[in-house]
Amino acid sequence: MTKPAPQVTLFGRDFSARVVLAVALVAGTLALFFTYRKVSALSSRPPRQGPLVRVLCAGPAPELRFAAQSAYTVQTLSGRTPLALGEPMEIVARQAEQSIQFNGADVGPGPVRLEAKEDDAFVVGRAPVATALIIARSTKGGIELIGELDMETYLARALFAEMPASFEREALKAQLVAARSYAYAYVLAGKTLFADDRSLMYPGKTEREAKARELCEETAGQVLLHDGVVVTAYFHSTCGGHTLPIERAFGGAPSPVFPGHECTYCQHSPRYRWDAPLEREHVACALRIEPDDLTGLRLDPETQRLIATTTTGEVALPFAQFRQRYHASAGREIMFSSRFLELRESGASLVLRGIGFGHGVGLCQYGADGLARSGLNYLDILRFYYPSTEVRTLW
Ligand SMILES: [Zn+2]
Repeated sequence: MTKPAPQVTLFGRDFSARVVLAVALVAGTLALFFTYRKVSALSSRPPRQGPLVRVLCAGPAPELRFAAQSAYTVQTLSGRTPLALGEPMEIVARQAEQSIQFNGADVGPGPVRLEAKEDDAFVVGRAPVATALIIARSTKGGIELIGELDMETYLARALFAEMPASFEREALKAQLVAARSYAYAYVLAGKTLFADDRSLMYPGKTEREAKARELCEETAGQVLLHDGVVVTAYFHSTCGGHTLPIERAFGGAPSPVFPGHECTYCQHSPRYRWDAPLEREHVACALRIEPDDLTGLRLDPETQRLIATTTTGEVALPFAQFRQRYHASAGREIMFSSRFLELRESGASLVLRGIGFGHGVGLCQYGADGLARSGLNYLDILRFYYPSTEVRTLW
């Protein structure tokens, strides 16, 4: 005998229990689906982008070569009228008499803006650099390639070119806020950033970007302000015991943001102290004397000058100038800063001992790592290296 199907009474009517169960299952699944959609929409919301940053990716030079890996549009900046829709190709941009030539075609005096259909389709050298490129005549002669991208993408790519990824998380976050402030000060001044150590290193799209993006999100839009003005937040690798007041490193007026600060946290840097063996020939060249005329050499820490005794008297040269001229003569860099500690004889050669790596102003990267190891968070680290500033979220 068949068992009668169980009945459920709802809204005054009888329903089969199976039907009620099926309806409940469908409703539950739908509810779960929409909840998931909502959560995934939250987690996949587009990251904050910040203002547009311009980076000099190549040039100035009379001719520049790069590649487009997707179709792209070509526009003049003035009229913004599309001139052509390009296909993936190698591109040669050349400076002509009064205009720019683009794969042999004259596109007027420029600037010319290229926008790719796919993300990061423009490749300069071996790295994809941007989705939009500007080709402009340089004030220094020749033409240049300027990549346009949003601030947070720019920072995510620059971060690990500026600071080792193995550094403490809070040190990396402090570096990000400093770098964001530095770059944003450029943007506000209407300037183009260099892609090398004249601004921040910009390697283009990198595989390590995902980890850096996480850190960008945690500090997104945060910059340093002093008296309501965005700080050009200088930073360097290793101070060697004390960061420098800005006027001592760069000249100009003192600043309450860069007064110089004792820092004993960078002792794990391989450049905390360094030794550079000096060659007589290049020392003489830097001093603009004949090698045979050089009879003695000493440091004067008071005036930050190197003093050479020669057969005809004394020649003095500021440390920074000596370093620059010596490197120009030797064709390679052996001194990591212009802070010299001592000169000593080692056999037949002279060894110069120096302090730290970089200009010494603002945040000391190894010091930031040391402070983070001792338990400070990124806001504490920023307060340590940039007194008289506050962190504000601008986007
Ligand atoms: Zn330091």
